[in-house]
Amino acid sequence: MLLHSEFMDMQFYIMFYLIVFFYGICIGSFLNVVIYRLPRNESLIKRASHCTTCGAKIRVIDIIPILSWLMLRGRCRSCGEKISPRYPIVEALNGIVYVVTFAVMDFTLRSVLCCFMFSVLICIGFMDWDTKEMDPILLGLIGVLGLPLCILSALPEEVKAGLPEFVVTPGDTLLSHVIGLFCISVPFFVIGEVSGVIARKKFGMDLRRGIELGDTLLMAAAGLMLGWKIAVASAFFGIMIAAVWGVIGKLRGGESIFAFGPALVIGIFFGALFGEQLVDWYITTLTYDPYAQ
Ligand SMILES: [Zn+2]
Repeated sequence: MLLHSEFMDMQFYIMFYLIVFFYGICIGSFLNVVIYRLPRNESLIKRASHCTTCGAKIRVIDIIPILSWLMLRGRCRSCGEKISPRYPIVEALNGIVYVVTFAVMDFTLRSVLCCFMFSVLICIGFMDWDTKEMDPILLGLIGVLGLPLCILSALPEEVKAGLPEFVVTPGDTLLSHVIGLFCISVPFFVIGEVSGVIARKKFGMDLRRGIELGDTLLMAAAGLMLGWKIAVASAFFGIMIAAVWGVIGKLRGGESIFAFGPALVIGIFFGALFGEQLVDWYITTLTYDPYAQ
């Protein structure tokens, strides 16, 4: 454990988590730009932040994450049009996610990469919610974030032993990453294809399938990055969340909106944080032999 050492005092933790939160909300600010501009094919860097109603350039004092929105009471300084509360929510969410990640997973290369993955997931989740589509660039980015972890896991044990504690994930194997790539994505792909065929036969048209290709690729990328245990736990959490979501939708009277992408995103977050312990606990419970000894 790098973070939770006896040599660190309270002040250190407060400073550390404040800095982490500050970084988190600043990156969250950029995520807002990605979520808004990427589906519209706008450049992420070319144009300065502007009001989406009147087009006025946003002044430097008005781009402070969360605080500016609160100070402006959620309205544009030039035209007075409402600014969606989603902006400060995304910023705060990203900050909180970073703090929780380091608190649960310690400060390691893996947790740093997970933070970046969670930021990409926030974009994927909101964009899937808005457009029902997942951007292939963002999905590919998760695969890229997973590469260092895959390479490290493939190193011989004696090489791993000489590496700093920061970069090594104990017990991690390349096989776990390879299985992670396929263990959820393959069944998802099959279910998606089958439900697509059934929908075509039954209704004679290309309806939305149960599981879209984006969901499948998302689970492939997350599984490759974090290994099979986390892939399985993430799918479990994601399906549970989607089911609860569906039931609530039905109870409210409307047709149940099947937002599987955002549910999977939340599932992967909890899967990455707690999935390994959950799967290990499940395996020991299953293999527990009361007649042993
Ligand atoms: Zn405006």
